[in-house]
Amino acid sequence: MRLVRLVILTGLLWFPVMSFSAPVKNLIWIISDGTGPEIMGLLMQGARAGALADYPQKTTALEQLLQDGEQGLFFHHTYGSVVTDSAAAATQMATGVWTLPDRVGVDFQGNSVPTLLEMAQQKGKAIGIISDAYVTDATPAGFTAHVFSRRQKMEIARQQLALAPEVILGGGKKYFSTGENKNLLAQARAQGYQLPKNKKALQKIHSGKVLGLFSDTNLPMAIEMYQHPAVPTLAEMTGQALDILAQDPEGFILIAEAGKVDWAAHANDAGSTLAELKVLDKTIAVARDFADKHPGTLVYVNSDHDTGLGSFTYQVLNPQGVARKTQEGEVLYDGNTFYASFDTFAKLEKQRRCLYYLEEELKKLPPEKLTPALVEKKLRAALGYPVDISDFENLQDVPGIFKQLNDSYAIVWATQTHSSAPLVGVAYGPGQEVFKGVYHNTDILPKLKKVLGWSEE
Ligand SMILES: [Zn+2]
Repeated sequence: MRLVRLVILTGLLWFPVMSFSAPVKNLIWIISDGTGPEIMGLLMQGARAGALADYPQKTTALEQLLQDGEQGLFFHHTYGSVVTDSAAAATQMATGVWTLPDRVGVDFQGNSVPTLLEMAQQKGKAIGIISDAYVTDATPAGFTAHVFSRRQKMEIARQQLALAPEVILGGGKKYFSTGENKNLLAQARAQGYQLPKNKKALQKIHSGKVLGLFSDTNLPMAIEMYQHPAVPTLAEMTGQALDILAQDPEGFILIAEAGKVDWAAHANDAGSTLAELKVLDKTIAVARDFADKHPGTLVYVNSDHDTGLGSFTYQVLNPQGVARKTQEGEVLYDGNTFYASFDTFAKLEKQRRCLYYLEEELKKLPPEKLTPALVEKKLRAALGYPVDISDFENLQDVPGIFKQLNDSYAIVWATQTHSSAPLVGVAYGPGQEVFKGVYHNTDILPKLKKVLGWSEE
């Protein structure tokens, strides 16, 4: 009797240990383009202390994942350059080999190299790509195509259909329906793809293959999505993709790109960046929910590079008047310093238009039209609240208007391009511990192969 109980007990104890080290069955990899740690901080700090309306509980899905998962810091330099673009970053992550900026699915010498999704397909897994930019964009392309330049979008589209993932969702219809690719959608249909045209049609699809392209180029910026109710969000596309991919008994790998944090950060537009981050966060929540309900699912969230290196700062308002020397020679500061305020988050949340588009619109106007009244009117419409620009200098310098707007909130951006800042990667689920520590983006594939049970070690 005693012996039997012991055996049962041991059996119970033994089972969870085994299942813990069992290979990962499903992988959901969310890549937030252009999202360095300081940009992740914008969302998390806004939720914690900035009273963001969407986060009454004061925490984000991203923060929860960082709390409960395993996190590390990783570098993303390419073969020979400190800073990367999205093509080299995606290629290095998808293949584990070093390459150069602009290259897609090829190494630095131009040789095609197998990608994670191709390997997954060979192992019998279902695969999917999603992007709320366009599906032929550098990030999804790095996992699904092999071309010398990311600009070969028509060729990328053809290679994507030749690979035939179970799920392709996002923007970029024109690369599948015009010019040399004008018959590609018909070809996709012949391959068995369902082609939903809008959110409603997508939500009806629960199995089979799906190619959903909901815009000619990129999907609308998150901040302007309220004008496009028929277009699914990244979180909605991800939820639907998981429904479909979960049908595969051998498991799946899904790559979901939050593609426009990068775009908003290129525009040095904090309000738009925040709106994109909220979409990312909803997508993380969808992935985590799936993982919690489907044992054997690993969620990995990272970025490909940082864009903009933006953050809040403080400003010395009157540099001459700040330092004052006493008779004893002691330097005193008059406190004439503006520290960025949490009130700014409420303003960022009111914004209704991507400032990049407003900047382009203003640049087209003749300089004499750029009066204070007109600029104030346009800014009020885009921001959703009135701004006082009486201090702004030289309204004819349109980029300068937006720089001064950032200055008025003590928001500073280091660049309108990419930075080399190391990135945060967070893993949640079985095998998450391999993503602890400091690594390089070429180490990600070997780590994944290990937890997927594809490597010998
Ligand atoms: Zn970029």
